[in-house]
Amino acid sequence: MQMTNKTSNCKKFASVIFIIILICSIVVLVLILKTTNKECDSSTYGSDCLPCPVCDSNTRCDSGKNGNGTCIPYQSSEQQPQTIPQTPQTQQTQQTQQTPTQQTPMPTIQQRNLVSNVETSELNFCGMTNVVALTFDDGPNEQRTPLILQELASLNIKATFFISPSNIRSPTTRQCEILRNMVNQGHNIQSHTFNHFDLQTLDSIQLQNELTTLENWVSSCLGSLPNNFNILRPPFGSGNRNVVSVANYMGYSVATWNIDTKDYEQRGLDSILQNIESQYRPGHSSIVLMHDHVYESRFLEHIVNFFITRGNRFITMSECLNLCRNNSCRDARPGYPFFAS
Ligand SMILES: [Zn+2]
Repeated sequence: MQMTNKTSNCKKFASVIFIIILICSIVVLVLILKTTNKECDSSTYGSDCLPCPVCDSNTRCDSGKNGNGTCIPYQSSEQQPQTIPQTPQTQQTQQTQQTPTQQTPMPTIQQRNLVSNVETSELNFCGMTNVVALTFDDGPNEQRTPLILQELASLNIKATFFISPSNIRSPTTRQCEILRNMVNQGHNIQSHTFNHFDLQTLDSIQLQNELTTLENWVSSCLGSLPNNFNILRPPFGSGNRNVVSVANYMGYSVATWNIDTKDYEQRGLDSILQNIESQYRPGHSSIVLMHDHVYESRFLEHIVNFFITRGNRFITMSECLNLCRNNSCRDARPGYPFFAS
C-alpha cells in the first residue's frame, strides 16, 4: 500500500512540474512572438525600439529591431501623414519677412484669378456723363453705417463702401453683419485696405498683405469674395505709381474722387453742401468722398437732392468702372486726385 501511495505521489508531483514547465514555455513563447511582431515607430521608445530624431514630411521613423532609429524615406506604397495647410496668416507672416522688393515687385506678387481683368488702372471720375457715385470710406462702423444703410434704403439709392474694418481695432462680428447687410441691400463694397495704413510707407509685399487680409476678412463674412471686389481706394488718398502697379497686378483698379465733402472736418451740413457745390462740374460725372464714422442723420437726403435736381443718376463704383472700360477716366486737372509718380 505504502509503495502504491509513494508511486501515486511521485506521479502527481511530476504532473505538477510538467504543467508548470508547460505554462512557462507558453508564456515565454508568447513574449517572443510579441516582441518579434512589435510595430516600432517614432512614438514607441524603449528597449525594443530606438527613438528617432524629428523626421521631416518626406521621411518616417524607422526604429526597433530592424531599424537603427533613423529617418527613412516613405516607400511609394506608404501613405504620408497629411500636412496641416498653412493659414493665410501664416503665409502672410512669411511673406512679410521677405526682403522688400520695391524695384522688382512683380515676381513675388500673386495675381488674383478674377473674372474681369483690369482694363482701367486708375480712375478719378466716371466719364463725361451726368452720373454720381456716393462713396463712404473707413467702415463698417457699428454706430453710423446702419444709419447710412437705413437712409439709403428709404431714398432707394445704391452707394459704394470702401471698407477698412480694422482701422480702429480688430474687426468684430457686428462689422461682419453690417457688411452682409450692405451686400444684401445691393450696395457696392470695395477695398480701402485692412489696416488703413499709408500705402506709400509700405513695400510691395506689405501692400499685398493689406489687400489679401481684407479679401480674407470679406470672404469670411460673406462666404466668398464678390467678383466685383476689384477697386482700391488708398487710405488718405496716399499712393504712387508703385501702389497703382501692385494693385493693378493683383486685379484692382485704383480710384480716388473728384468731390471731397470734407465731412471729416465736421462743420455741418451747410459746409458739406458748399464743398459739393464748389467742386461739382455740370456735364461731368462725380465721385463723392464721404466717411461712415462722421455721418450725421439725414445729411443724405440733402446731398442726394443736390444731384437729383441737377439731372444726375446714381451709380456704384463698379458701374463707374464699367463706364471707364473704353474711356480714360484719369483726369489730371486740379480737384481730380491721381498718382503721378
Ligand atoms: Zn480712409
